[in-house]
Amino acid sequence: MVDLKSQYQKIKPAIDKGIQEVLDNANFIAGKQVQEFADELAVYAGVKKVIPCANGTDALQIALMALDLQPGDEVITPSFTYFATVEVIALLKCVPVFVDVNPETFTIDAEEIEKAISPKTKAIVPVHLYGQAANMEPILALAAKNNIAVVEDNAQAIGGEYTFSNGKTFKNGSMSLISTTSFFPSKNLGCYGDGGAIFTNDEELALKLKMIANHGQRIKYYHDLIGCNSRLDTLQAAILKVKLQHLDEFCNARRAVADFYDTAFANHPKIKTPVRASYAKHVYHQYTMILADGVDREAMINALKEKGIPTMLYYPLACHKQKAFEKGARIVGDLKNTNWLSPRVISLPIHTEMDEEQLNYITKSVLEFLNKSN
Ligand SMILES: *Cc1c(COP(=O)(O)O)cnc(C)c1O
Repeated sequence: MVDLKSQYQKIKPAIDKGIQEVLDNANFIAGKQVQEFADELAVYAGVKKVIPCANGTDALQIALMALDLQPGDEVITPSFTYFATVEVIALLKCVPVFVDVNPETFTIDAEEIEKAISPKTKAIVPVHLYGQAANMEPILALAAKNNIAVVEDNAQAIGGEYTFSNGKTFKNGSMSLISTTSFFPSKNLGCYGDGGAIFTNDEELALKLKMIANHGQRIKYYHDLIGCNSRLDTLQAAILKVKLQHLDEFCNARRAVADFYDTAFANHPKIKTPVRASYAKHVYHQYTMILADGVDREAMINALKEKGIPTMLYYPLACHKQKAFEKGARIVGDLKNTNWLSPRVISLPIHTEMDEEQLNYITKSVLEFLNKSN
């Protein structure tokens, strides 16, 4: 699904130099590269502050901790997302409130959010799924009207953009009170281990987020808050400093792969290619298609696997159907789009190192299977 080896080969000299510097200085924790990377990422994303942390799940947890949520408070989120988005809500003894997604864009539906708001609602966590921003304008308007915080889960869409109806364009991760991202190796900006970050434009909140990520301390050994231990290590920061320089180029490479797939599958009766919302610049963390009724998804996965082509299902079981959420969550409406999508989506390989030969082979194999089956 990704080719991190080839990508590394292309940027090897700069990466190796960055790593060697850390080894030479042995500042493995809180070396200067960590703050440098945070500052560079803040400039890139168009936010005032970036707080690095250990991974994207911690980033979400720290963001919610900073909102001082109380047990029983409700947090509205899509069920059609990676489990981590929802897990941290439950971990803080809050109630995940699952709402449906738009079946075209796979992202949370603002009209459904409106139905979900209760006196207990304290936050909304939209997810920019597969690399495309959720429709933020109506979400931010609803949140402002009801005095609810918005925390963007931007683990999959760093480098992407959202354009408001007034024509103003923002980078994903810069529109909400707090945003979070992940540097898991396969993410659009991935490191060589685990990493994550929290974004905000609120300087006071930034200080609190930073304290929470560091045992609640501002001065060493003086703990004002209950926090956690969540750090981006210096080696990862050094790697990310190099990779950030290439992020736009990486996003463009992914978009070119999506263009190729879109053209190859255009108007095919058995495939719905991913929709590009007019408001978003999609950065294709995944290329996820919807298969028509009657297509045997298992058979397709196996046929492609036999030809050496990996596929993935993001995600085979929506969060509201997970055993872990048999209790403790609230479901709004019937989640009919979520339930419709889960058995029909399939993701093809997409990454920065794909060449035309690979793309021809994959598209030909997909079309061969679909044209042969029933
Ligand atoms: C990857 C991901 C996370 C979690 O990131 P980790 O770094 O793996 O903890 C959270 N939300 C979404 C939508 C993700 O894709």
